[in-house]
Amino acid sequence: MYCNKCGNQNIAYFGKDKFNQYYCRKCIEFNGLSAQKAIKENKIYTLSLNYSLSPKQNELSNAIKKSFSSNKNCLVYAVCGAGKTELVYETILYALNNQKQVGFCVPRKDVVIELEPRIKVAFKEAKVISVYGEHSEVLTGDIILLTTHQLYRYNDYFDLLIIDEADAFPYKNNFVLNHFFKKAIKGNYVMLSATPLEQNIKEIVQNCDTYLTLMTRYHNHPLIVPKVIINPFLLKMYLFYYLYKYKKSGFPVLIFVPTIEEVETMYKSISIFFKKGNYVHSKKIDRDKIINDFKKGKYQYLVTSSVLERGVTIKNLQVIVYKADDTIYDSSALIQISGRVGRKIDAWNGQVIFLCQKNNSSITDALIKIKEANSYV
Ligand SMILES: [Zn+2]
Repeated sequence: MYCNKCGNQNIAYFGKDKFNQYYCRKCIEFNGLSAQKAIKENKIYTLSLNYSLSPKQNELSNAIKKSFSSNKNCLVYAVCGAGKTELVYETILYALNNQKQVGFCVPRKDVVIELEPRIKVAFKEAKVISVYGEHSEVLTGDIILLTTHQLYRYNDYFDLLIIDEADAFPYKNNFVLNHFFKKAIKGNYVMLSATPLEQNIKEIVQNCDTYLTLMTRYHNHPLIVPKVIINPFLLKMYLFYYLYKYKKSGFPVLIFVPTIEEVETMYKSISIFFKKGNYVHSKKIDRDKIINDFKKGKYQYLVTSSVLERGVTIKNLQVIVYKADDTIYDSSALIQISGRVGRKIDAWNGQVIFLCQKNNSSITDALIKIKEANSYV
């Protein structure tokens, strides 16, 4: 038994419908229209950026283009705040001007929405479209931005398929989505990650494809090394101490807690003493608005689940991870969370506090990787 669509071979996932035909339960939710092949026009595309890349970004950008033009796949390990997206612009431009079909996929829809205006500004002549959950009326364009959930619509389709955050939920370790990704590639892929999976690095190395690293942030200041506070009993006291400290200096703070339930109870207990706060998690309906208000300075702190682990950039942000030793945080999550701090060129400093009852291997591993990257600065 083999499902043509998702590659499933596990017999337990096959069922029979009322016409006695087999169907696959593993990919049953992916049932929308497939994209038509677009006819490529012979037009000239340009790249317009109102900033310039750092010398290191430039070097990487050239190496990625060279890799793609020699028909190789490429994995780019670039630390949080290195400016990953910009690294592929020259390669996209090269592909467009060679009548190649370009796709850019990410696990989460929020990132697609955030990416669209940036790509549109950079590639003015290109038809840039976004495809995600409730947004799939138009499926063809010069540059297709999409969630990994929509890749099933594009079979053997992309000459250049870029994937960012391949190590993020829900793509990470998802058999069906990983299969869709492979099937959607006609040419080559470029994978970008600040915390790449071992298996992805292995695959690149084994196939003699291109493995590139960018260990410095675009502003050339080091990553923030978390301060680890281990105390079996007084974590809340430390939390309040740091909250008070940041409140006095007027810095915005994200407080990460392990579960949705804990987000709500934590907010309740903090908000008695600290006003101007709010909380978010994946099930909070008005979360986008709250996050935007936080960015605008309406709140001084947000209690959050791992939903804000990636993708947020806020000036002068400080981060506290409450129960950093909880099993929900692997080393990648801790690195990504720490990577939220010090992202701005005029605010490259800040604090990351790990509050935990005991040390563990995820914390140790995260610290080793952050310090290792900093040895390149
Ligand atoms: Zn299937």
